[in-house]
Amino acid sequence: MITIIVPVLNEASNIPILDESVKKVMSVINLDHEIIFIDDGSRDGTLNAIKKLDDNYSRFISFSRNFGKEAAIVAGLEHARGEAAIIMDGDLQHPASLITEMIDQYRAGYDQVVARRNKNGEPMRRRIPSNIFYKLMNYTSTVHLEDGEGDFRLISRKVIDSILLLSENNRFSKGIFEWVGFNKKVIEFDHIHRTSGRSTFNPLKLADYAIDGISAYNHRPLRICFYLGLMVLLISLAYIAYMLVNIVINGVDVPGYFTIIASLLLLGSIQLFSLGIIGEYVGRIYIETKSRPKYIVREQSDSMAQEEEKIR
Ligand code: UDP
Ligand code: MG
Repeated sequence: MITIIVPVLNEASNIPILDESVKKVMSVINLDHEIIFIDDGSRDGTLNAIKKLDDNYSRFISFSRNFGKEAAIVAGLEHARGEAAIIMDGDLQHPASLITEMIDQYRAGYDQVVARRNKNGEPMRRRIPSNIFYKLMNYTSTVHLEDGEGDFRLISRKVIDSILLLSENNRFSKGIFEWVGFNKKVIEFDHIHRTSGRSTFNPLKLADYAIDGISAYNHRPLRICFYLGLMVLLISLAYIAYMLVNIVINGVDVPGYFTIIASLLLLGSIQLFSLGIIGEYVGRIYIETKSRPKYIVREQSDSMAQEEEKIR
């Protein structure tokens, strides 16, 4: 059986369409499937739209509020019963037709089949920041990320179980998928514009996401502070030596107003910058030590409730 995991936030009108297209694709492939919808605190009747679907193969979890797409993916993985799972968006930007090829590649022995969105037709205002992000990310990080490779992927049971072993709260799923490893196959698809509903990501959220991504995986940025500090220290020492020599030879000339201000600004800004980076990590430690649950369930389909009874 294949589990299809769909995190949804306010996608009421898209749900029947998505369900229909998945059903169509899966009827051709000779394989059982289940769809798990994770309603991430929607306010537009998304849950009702899900409940209207055929119960036999669709299940749902509804969060008590919006916990974010990453938490929704974890919930889906935790409840997946399939030998493999496919994670896809509920906004129809991830074409269900790709499922066929994903499953072919999975049968060929790949543990991760990633659908990579190529950049055709993506607006400039999104392309530029994302380029900067990937440059920065790959420069500072130990996991390598490719632009366009998102959450739309098939992962085998082995990968699902490895991902569930990671207990961190602050989840940056793209990086987690790469971090667990296994052999991976990339297939491509064209960018599709959202036909209904609205993208929930805005520039500020994207910047947040980028900072999460960079600091979630390594402490190399802390090291950048160290090197930056060292560099400034060496330059200052050289400059001080130069001034001393100059004073010995020529005596004191004009009071060094400019140099004082310049060094003050430079040192101050570097200190602030470094503090910011350190703060980023301290904040992360704070959140992780609370070890709160990643999500809270308000309601779930009967089949899931029964399963949990059994586990208890
Ligand atoms: N989503 C979610 N929780 C959120 C934000 C988004 O479950 O807090 C879902 C959303 O319904 C969609 C998918 O995640 O199915 C991708 O979201 P979106 O289309 O806003 O992201 P984009 O495609 O712009 O990256
Ligand atoms: Mg989208």
